[in-house]
Amino acid sequence: MLQLKSQQSQLGSSAVSGSGSYNYKSFHLGNWTEISATCGGTSQTGFQAPINIAVDGADYESMPRTSWPKFRAKDGGCEEAYFAAKGTAWQVTFIDEDANIDCTNLEMEWNGKTYALVQFHFHTLSEDTLDFQPTEMQMHMVHLAEDGSFAVVGAMIKTKGWKKNRFLEDVFGAGFDSNRKVSLNGKQKFNPYDGVLQKSGEFWYYPGSFTTPPCTEGVDFLIAQSPVVTSHSYVASYMEYLKGSGAGNSYGQNHRPIQPLNDRVITTGRFSRGGAFPPCGKLDPKNLRLGGEA
Ligand SMILES: [Zn+2]
Repeated sequence: MLQLKSQQSQLGSSAVSGSGSYNYKSFHLGNWTEISATCGGTSQTGFQAPINIAVDGADYESMPRTSWPKFRAKDGGCEEAYFAAKGTAWQVTFIDEDANIDCTNLEMEWNGKTYALVQFHFHTLSEDTLDFQPTEMQMHMVHLAEDGSFAVVGAMIKTKGWKKNRFLEDVFGAGFDSNRKVSLNGKQKFNPYDGVLQKSGEFWYYPGSFTTPPCTEGVDFLIAQSPVVTSHSYVASYMEYLKGSGAGNSYGQNHRPIQPLNDRVITTGRFSRGGAFPPCGKLDPKNLRLGGEA
């Protein structure tokens, strides 16, 4: 959900449709493809996100162990994050010059590159579906590498289940009020890797795109196979927030429908931890502001 600065003024509280602006209401009027033909899936690879992932009876090839992503949280994570209102969601930001925040402690090593976790945000309902069933919510952790590559790590979020995810309870418990720096209670730091991803949990991989205009392709998606559980009341509050801010549709939802799989091959792997901690390099401010939302 990295958006052009110039779009932010257009994506104000009312987020009205018009040339260059978009929202989940205008999506259903078909204006996303007018803004960017890529959203129509007709250019480049046609590999758009989100997708349906077949689960029951599916047998996906596992990627080699050497390809598994590694997550690292230097000093245990980030002391604080910036809660930001965006045009189509609400995000927890770690790197944003304008918000005067620059924590590069959260890193993923993937595909021979080091990625920094720039922000995470939430969709309701989930964008990806499992056997065509969405979950109540989905979290997207947006990673950026020095060369401008994006990789999104996703977690499916349900509201049924006895064990509520503590990290999400803490984040949502801090409230959706935006444009403020937030620290979590006590000594806890922001570490969404330990917070929502099982240490050697399995994931599905697919090549995809940003899920809002300009729907840029070439974005890697790694979706955790184990869902996490949060309180229904937080999902309801988030939907109220999206309704109030104009970021969601009239139901307070902010998800793009699933897109054709085309010739894509889904593979699986396992998350891992550790390794050396190379700096993620200099992230291009242009890429940090790059249009689109994963
Ligand atoms: Zn997203």
